[in-house]
Amino acid sequence: MGKDYIQGTKLIRELEHYSPKIELIEDAAIWGIFADREVAFLSKGKNEELKSQKLIIAEGAYDRPMPFPGWTLPGVFTGGSALRMVKTEKVLPGKKVLLTGTGPLQLVLATQLLQAGAEVVSVLEAASSTGAWKYLHQFWGQWELIKDGLHYLWELRRGKIPYLTSHAIIQARGEQEVNEAVYARVDRDGKPIPGTEKTVEVDTVCTGHGLIPSTRLSRLCGCEHKYEPCLGAWVPCHDESMETTVPGVFVAGDSTGIAGALVAMEEGFPVPAQEQVIQKARQESRLDLPRKHQNITHFFFLLGLLWRLSLPGSRLWSTR
Ligand SMILES: Cc1cc2nc3c(=O)[nH]c(=O)nc-3n(C[C@H](O)[C@H](O)[C@H](O)COP(=O)(O)OP(=O)(O)OC[C@H]3O[C@@H](n4cnc5c(N)ncnc54)[C@H](O)[C@@H]3O)c2cc1C
Repeated sequence: MGKDYIQGTKLIRELEHYSPKIELIEDAAIWGIFADREVAFLSKGKNEELKSQKLIIAEGAYDRPMPFPGWTLPGVFTGGSALRMVKTEKVLPGKKVLLTGTGPLQLVLATQLLQAGAEVVSVLEAASSTGAWKYLHQFWGQWELIKDGLHYLWELRRGKIPYLTSHAIIQARGEQEVNEAVYARVDRDGKPIPGTEKTVEVDTVCTGHGLIPSTRLSRLCGCEHKYEPCLGAWVPCHDESMETTVPGVFVAGDSTGIAGALVAMEEGFPVPAQEQVIQKARQESRLDLPRKHQNITHFFFLLGLLWRLSLPGSRLWSTR
């Protein structure tokens, strides 16, 4: 089942340990948050309300879509939805897949697709790996993360899957559904470089340009938000203990900025312990939380760069 499954089981057990202090209400869709932290939700066809002294919002994130000609054709998926299909539903989105976008989730998705029996044609990473070296020192001591990253890259290499930085899809083609895709090298601004186009036969394109923090619930609460340029998204303002500008309303996890499951768990510690826990996580991980997404992305570029340098006869940057 893998270590994620084991970790998940451990978390569920911890939650059960605290029952009946914590009541788990499943299938609950929150549709309103009113004054004094009154939460309204629909559960099993019934509208319910709950009031609390403190409210912690951890509403996650959603895929950032990036349009290109042909992106509405059947067979084009966002990376997150494809990953969910493979990991959770155990369903393959297609047989011959091109991955395009940016960030570490692409590598996770490619590995999962390979393990599930799909053919991965290429992984296109829009960003260049130039300049990634300057982030190397920040990952000293991050052995688990490095191990995970190397594992993903090793799986790609074992499957002889090209991992092309500074490349992106420019068109998905097909009458009823995708049957081929055109990609090209891109410059620093993400513009295709004429003459570098390649056409590949595929039945599926997965496009992943990262995730956008969900802020619907924190907005419903009236919390102040700020634009985070490195995320290209709005996030709720909060202090060191994760309390927002609305007293008694806290935030945690991907809705405060994208950093993966480990940081989301650290941020979710009980309120009195939060400050110490986050400080500790910062010291141990050496990750600056507001820049966490950027750093993790650079980390994977670095690994990609090292991997490509190790290929026999490889060139430093683009491979195709
Ligand atoms: C497909 C996919 C694969 C991933 N794989 C990895 C991986 O391999 N390694 C890794 O480190 N990270 C991975 N991540 C990221 C990781 O899942 C997140 O960083 C982590 O789950 C964040 O936890 P969270 O509690 O902030 O949000 P989530 O786990 O996303 O939880 C948010 C929850 O809020 C609920 N919610 C939102 N709005 C409402 C509402 N109005 N009413 C009721 N409920 C609501 C959602 O249904 C969801 O259950 C992946 C993410 C995705 C999308």
